[in-house]
Amino acid sequence: MKLTKIKEGMAEIFIPKAERIYDAPVFYNPIMALNRDLSVLVLKALGSKKVLDALSATGVRGIRYALETEAEEAWLNDINPSAFELIIKNLENNFGEKPILEREMAIITRERKIIATNKDANLLMTEKFRYFDFIDLDPFGSPMEFLDSALRSVKRKGTIAITATDTAPLCGAHSKACVRRYNSIPLRGELCHESGLRILIGTVARYAAKYDLGIKVLVAYYKDHYFRAFLQLKDGAKEGDKSLMNLGYVYFDTKNGKFEIEKRFLPSKLNAFGPLWLGPLKDQKFIEKMILKSEECELAQKKKVLNFLNTLLKELDEPFFYDTHALARRNSLEVRKLSEIGAILQEKGYKVSRTHFSPTAIKTDAPFEEALMALKAL
Ligand code: SAM
Repeated sequence: MKLTKIKEGMAEIFIPKAERIYDAPVFYNPIMALNRDLSVLVLKALGSKKVLDALSATGVRGIRYALETEAEEAWLNDINPSAFELIIKNLENNFGEKPILEREMAIITRERKIIATNKDANLLMTEKFRYFDFIDLDPFGSPMEFLDSALRSVKRKGTIAITATDTAPLCGAHSKACVRRYNSIPLRGELCHESGLRILIGTVARYAAKYDLGIKVLVAYYKDHYFRAFLQLKDGAKEGDKSLMNLGYVYFDTKNGKFEIEKRFLPSKLNAFGPLWLGPLKDQKFIEKMILKSEECELAQKKKVLNFLNTLLKELDEPFFYDTHALARRNSLEVRKLSEIGAILQEKGYKVSRTHFSPTAIKTDAPFEEALMALKAL
């Protein structure tokens, strides 16, 4: 394998030389540096001690967790033997010593313990029952095949970080795949990214509930064709019940773009999309803490990260939004400036914000008819 060295955050990582990232024998995607930066900030804000990067590839994520956070024990795992070899090389390069090979593990014991393994992630997580404070699932495509093991391997008050890159199922382009993987009917159209994220979180809430666990969303988002959710577990049957109360459905009228949500275990009407999570997508104080923590960090893309976190901070935490371009198209109206529509709604006393899900959309607590009237009034 021909290698080249890159720097990301505080880590120096050997990655394979390849024409396209998916041709490489071990996977590294530079676009995901922002995902890893945000994950570092989440870990720093949580102060988690035992951390697992279950699908590690080059090891960049786990190495960054070990170098840039307060983690005392960082585990890096990948099923691919070439990835395992590269993880060991990258550990040696970043920590200045060769890991000791012992019982299928490569271990560095310094002020922090770092352990690399070459196992099926499900097997490793099954062996380490209720062990980790934080588990990161960053798979190719869907995280669903690892979810049950992760929910058993993480502590009952731990946190799981989940990436899903299978946007075609979650956004409704491959509806059957979404039903198979997530047991949920996806929505197409302008709301598909938010509904995809809410389907992912809703599925975790349902899986967690069977272990008498609830979930709290610390921060969740859609970006660069992937979904990411940081979910803190809440211990107890009541917490599980509380989480399930946040599940429900969305109804969508393709003629005019009107949506309606319903928090309910079963839908009361036909043509419901879901089930999906209708609870909060962020904890405001937690994001503020992440922003504070960024001052101590050497992130790969600090400016981008702070811009993004500030967008999330300002975003109204209401389910769904009005995409002004789609609304204009569906109702044969002219496209108008977001700021002008927002000003009309604000004058009427409604809350309005932009949303990271779409640059042409607003989130508001105004009903559909008011949003449409604001578009017509201009
Ligand atoms: N987390 C990495 C990062 O931030 O650069 C990228 C991980 S890559 C998207 C997914 C990795 O999962 C691949 O390296 C692949 O070999 C590994 N993988 C796939 N199935 C696995 C399994 N069952 N157990 C462990 N690793 C697995």
